[in-house]
Amino acid sequence: MKKVIKNVRFEGKVRDLVIENGLIQEIVESEMETEVFTYDAKGLLYLPTLADMHCHLDKHLLGESWRSLQPFTTLSKQLKFEKELLSSMENSVATRALILAEVMLKQGTTKIRTHVDVDPELGLKHLEAVLELREQLKELMEIEIVAFPQQGLLRSNSVGIMKEALRNGADLVGGVDPAGLDRRVEASLEAMFDLSVEFNAGIDLHLHDPGHLGVYTIDLVTDYTRQTQKQGRVAVSHAYCLGMVADTELSDTMNALKEASVSIISSVPIDRPMPRIETMVSAGVTFQVGTDNIRDAWSPYGNGDMLQRGSRLAEKNGWVTDELLTKAYSFITNRSLTPKVGEKADFMLVDAQNIKDAIASVPKREAVFSKGNLISGEEHQLEGEYISR
Ligand SMILES: [Zn+2]
Repeated sequence: MKKVIKNVRFEGKVRDLVIENGLIQEIVESEMETEVFTYDAKGLLYLPTLADMHCHLDKHLLGESWRSLQPFTTLSKQLKFEKELLSSMENSVATRALILAEVMLKQGTTKIRTHVDVDPELGLKHLEAVLELREQLKELMEIEIVAFPQQGLLRSNSVGIMKEALRNGADLVGGVDPAGLDRRVEASLEAMFDLSVEFNAGIDLHLHDPGHLGVYTIDLVTDYTRQTQKQGRVAVSHAYCLGMVADTELSDTMNALKEASVSIISSVPIDRPMPRIETMVSAGVTFQVGTDNIRDAWSPYGNGDMLQRGSRLAEKNGWVTDELLTKAYSFITNRSLTPKVGEKADFMLVDAQNIKDAIASVPKREAVFSKGNLISGEEHQLEGEYISR
């Protein structure tokens, strides 16, 4: 069914978007007479919807009563604390996952990669809930699922349950700190890559291991990626180590990341080092952003807003020029920055002067569209029923 979103502003122009089958079919002058007339954007700014490449739908505390956290001391203590906390939740995993997904959709996030905890004790409980949610939201949100052995792939004997998870619908193999947690860097990575080969899955490794230990781990990841021909399907999340070791010592690692098409994903931490964007971009390494901790056992902060995370990325890096503010937006979306004929009609409308202003000021999302359907926001609606989901 054809529909028209009128008076959408981008690059200083106001245009109508003609949408059919969820795609932008035409971009036309707003003065043109149109018979199908669905939504008046009234000159609000067009922004592409957001991609949150690192989150945990199963581990946040949104919708729960306030839980007191404890300061981080050691990883094993923290993992025990988290496990106890999660087993005491009032809401089911399914309910909590839906709460966060809805928060994200309202803020304009239509693509996510979520890690989902699996271990022999937990089994596939969390995964099953998130798989159901993916089915439920398939018209609104693209969800990639990483089977995540939070307690350590080898440390918690999770290889068997990881196989079950991959057999049952997880898309990627997760892992965490091959040195710090599993204490066997090669064996841990080999187990991850074996799983990825056996199930034709991608890989996304949580890597907090610092300094040269972390860089050594990344070097092995790039080696294994090439050996298993997984180029373009492997990511390292966090990679604090790339912000701790000097650029002069990182050039081989950066080249290897580029050659193996291994991407780096960061939640833009403000309390610890993060990979240096300029170093990665000039080396041609793909960089993506996620929200990660959203009110969970690790942090009481976070609201799931990727636009705010893009703003934090720009601010943390001291970006003030138009070029860099625009670049910041490119890291938080998987879409073109302006509407393009033939692309999926996933966009949102905000009251901002331009994309730079939006990154700097993080305006409210007045409306969010997924495949051309209004999924959030009622204002500016015109006569007639809006096409419902
Ligand atoms: Zn994480």
